[in-house]
Amino acid sequence: MMGSDEKPKLRCCKTIFGGGWNRSGCSKPAKYTVDGKHYCGTHNPAAEAARNAKSEAKYKAQSEARDAEWKAKDIAALKAKHFDAIFTCAKMLAHHDTELAKAIKTYERALARLEKPHAH
Ligand SMILES: [Zn+2]
Repeated sequence: MMGSDEKPKLRCCKTIFGGGWNRSGCSKPAKYTVDGKHYCGTHNPAAEAARNAKSEAKYKAQSEARDAEWKAKDIAALKAKHFDAIFTCAKMLAHHDTELAKAIKTYERALARLEKPHAH
């Protein structure tokens, strides 16, 4: 009908992708207008950008934590790989070095506690 001054209700222009072939527009009433397009509070580009930045920061922190964990594991594996050879040499040298002998004894006691936690 012409001449109607009734404003059409603005709806969010965002297209929502559901599972499979479902695709529908966001049906929420628009609260924001950006570059002539209308968005609800959830799909307002500023809010979406903020959410994206937040999840990117979270992802970055997670991947940094994972990298640090892998690095620590690599270092531990490297140390373990060479430990026996170095320890054998150290034991031979300990006959001439009381500090070294003490360090070896401390290590062996700690190891024994781990291997037999209930023995005293
Ligand atoms: Zn929306």
